[in-house]
This record gives sequence, C-alpha cells and structure tokens, in this order.
Amino acid sequence: MSAFAYRNGVLHAESVPLPAIAAAVGTPFYCYSTAALEAHYSAYAGAFAGQDAGVCYAVKANSNLAVIRTFARLGAGADVVSGGEMQRALAGGIPADRIVFSGVGKTREEMRAALQAGIHQINVESIPEVEALSEVASSLGVVAPIAFRVNPDVDAKTHAKIATGKKENKFGIDYDHAREVYAQAAKLPGIKPVAIAVHIGSQLTDLAPFRAAYERVAALLHVLREDGHDIQRLDLGGGLGITYKNETPPDLADYAAMVRSITGNLGCRITLEPGRSLVGNAGILVSSVIFVKPGLHRRFVIVDAAMNDLIRPALYEAYHGIVPVTEPDPAALKEPFDVVGPVCESGDTFALQRLLPPLGADDLVAFLSAGAYGAVMSSTYNTRPLIPEVLVNGSDFAVIRPRPTVEEMLAAERVPDWLKA
Ligand SMILES: *Cc1c(COP(=O)(O)O)cnc(C)c1O
Repeated sequence: MSAFAYRNGVLHAESVPLPAIAAAVGTPFYCYSTAALEAHYSAYAGAFAGQDAGVCYAVKANSNLAVIRTFARLGAGADVVSGGEMQRALAGGIPADRIVFSGVGKTREEMRAALQAGIHQINVESIPEVEALSEVASSLGVVAPIAFRVNPDVDAKTHAKIATGKKENKFGIDYDHAREVYAQAAKLPGIKPVAIAVHIGSQLTDLAPFRAAYERVAALLHVLREDGHDIQRLDLGGGLGITYKNETPPDLADYAAMVRSITGNLGCRITLEPGRSLVGNAGILVSSVIFVKPGLHRRFVIVDAAMNDLIRPALYEAYHGIVPVTEPDPAALKEPFDVVGPVCESGDTFALQRLLPPLGADDLVAFLSAGAYGAVMSSTYNTRPLIPEVLVNGSDFAVIRPRPTVEEMLAAERVPDWLKA
C-alpha cells in the first residue's frame, strides 16, 4: 500500500488531503510520509534481523532534520559525506558512534571534526587522504578507525552519472592495490584499519553487480586477515533501486539472503548504507499548473515547480510519475503533453510527451518518487526560493523547512562599500 493514494477522488498523503497542505503552505512543496519512511526502514531492519548488521542511512538522499530524526528514533546510524552532513546527523539525534564518514575528498577540518566527535568509522579513498588523516589523528592524540573504500571494477548497470564502481570512476582504491594500500596505512600513526567498504552506485535494479562486488570484498578480507589486519566489519554501501516507472528492484529478503550467503561465515559486522530505497518513494513534489500552452507541434503543461526544485529529470533524464491531485475520470482521454517548469533553460523539462488526462490552470499535480535526491539537490536558480518540505504523520502534518521569502534570500547577500556610494 502506498502512503500516497486517492481517497474520495483526492490524492492524500496518509490521511491528509494534499489540497489542504497546498492551501496552508502554497505550491510547490515536497511532502514526505512518516509511515512510508518507517515502513521502508523497518523492512531493512527486518530483512537483516538474523544477521549482525546495522543500517546507516545515507543522509545525502534527504537530509532534512525531521527525516533524520524519524530514522534516528528507529535506531538508525548515518552515512555522511561532508562535515555539514555529520553536523546534521548529530543534530538529528544519531550518535557519533553510529556515523560513518564517506566521500572522496574530505578536508582536514572535516577529519578533525569527525575525530573530535568520536565517529564510528572514516571511509578513506586514497593514500594521500589516509596520510592527511594520520596527521590529523596524531595531532589530536587519537586513533582513527578506518575502512578503505575499494573499487571492485564492477558494472552497476545503472545511469553513468550514478555508477561508482568501475575502475574509471573517481571512487575508491583500485582493487588490485588494496593489499599494499592497507599495509601502508597500517604503518601510519593514528590509523587503524578495521573494515572494508564498497559502494558501486545508485538505483541498482539487479542483484548480480552487488553479488560480484561483495564476493570481491570477501576475497579481499581473507587476504587482509592473512596479512595480519584485524578486519571486523564490512561496509556494503547503498544503492538498492526503487520503482520509478516499471523497474523491479530486488526484494529486500533476496538481497539480505545474498549478503548472508557471502558474508555469513566471515565473522564480520555488516553495515548497510541505503539512501534512495529508504526515502525515494516516501516523498512527492506537489505543484500547480500555471498554464496549459497550446502549440502547433507540442502542447505544454507549465507548472510552478522547476528544475531548481527537482533536478533529476534534467540531470539524469530521470522519470517521475506525474498524477493529478484530483482523481481523473477513468474514461477521460489521455493526451501527450510536455511538462515543463518556468526556468529559462530548455533542460527545465520534467517529461516529454507524457500521456495525461485533461489539466487546466491552478490544477494540482504530484511528481511521484521524489523523496530522494529531490529537495537536497535543489537550488535557488532564477531567484526561486527553496520550496517548503512538509512531513505528514497520520492525520497531522508539519512544515519541516519553510519557504524563505525573497527578502530573506536577499538579506543573506552583501554589497561592498565601494558600490554603496
Ligand atoms: C550515495 C551513497 C550511498 C547511498 O546510495 P543510495 O543509492 O541512495 O542508496 C551509500 N553510500 C555511499 C558511500 C554513498 O556515496
């Protein structure tokens, strides 16, 4: 059952009719469902219940504090990729000893903050990075628990911009160098290798690339242990896909069984880092139709949301389902429209030749599956204020990030003295 469904002809989020939220906060806005967030997290926890495994929510998918807190209350850890995200995770109630710090280019300031917070693990991706970390840890008089993120050279069979596990990608250390890299790192002061990490990409819809990557990690574990490294944990990354259109991502039970079949006998604690699969289908973007623009060749539905609010279609040619908030008559004729935003870029297109029932100015439409990599990737391009985020919980809803006014946006900027005269 989806958290977003028609009731009495009106699209609801749980028990809240979306027009009620639109009336309260204006459009466009993001809307998330607590029930869906909780259900997705519990599905992970349940699937891995028989294993020594923990879920570190990949905060970058949706880093609103209220979303983080929803997961924190269920016992989640966090995977963060910047000092800012670490601060968010902590502010969202996730203890430092459940936070993993990932990313290909951490600064020394970020390393210092992470070590001072007492972070669970830092996933490093190069020798220069581990050398810098060694210096920072030594200067603080602490030992940094690290994993190297290895690049298993596996094709994730996903969009090129979100594939990260091929040897030509910038991520991780070359699998074939892992042994010498661990040996080098183990000699550094303030560094203790405790884990191996891997993350091969996002929106994977097949188990085979995961399996290939995990088998390589398991093989590496044996080699590293023979070399005398005390490796206790495997960080298996995120990347499980969701259904946007007609994809059939692997079942969590099958994913968990595959993980168990490879890692069950290794005596390692498993870390999972799901992002998209926890939040993607727990959120939608609600927008109003501004105009329906007739044309000789194409007809356009111009909505008040734009690429700055949801960039996935422009960036990845991503598909989002688009549905009217007022349930259409099943007999209504569907016709092809291009659905576009008002930004001055042809890339500001949500859908081409999408079959839609009749729509008119001021009608509300919902972009589905927008909970992941939506609000977090938004910008204020064209001086469009960041749009509100709303969290629904049963028949309640709350604004979890308000829409700034243009005055507030302008107040953050400064005109230098020489331009004031
Ligand atoms: C982005 C990212 C994730 C989460 O990926 P999803 O596809 O959203 O599940 C997990 N781990 C790392 C290191 C990441 O960079």
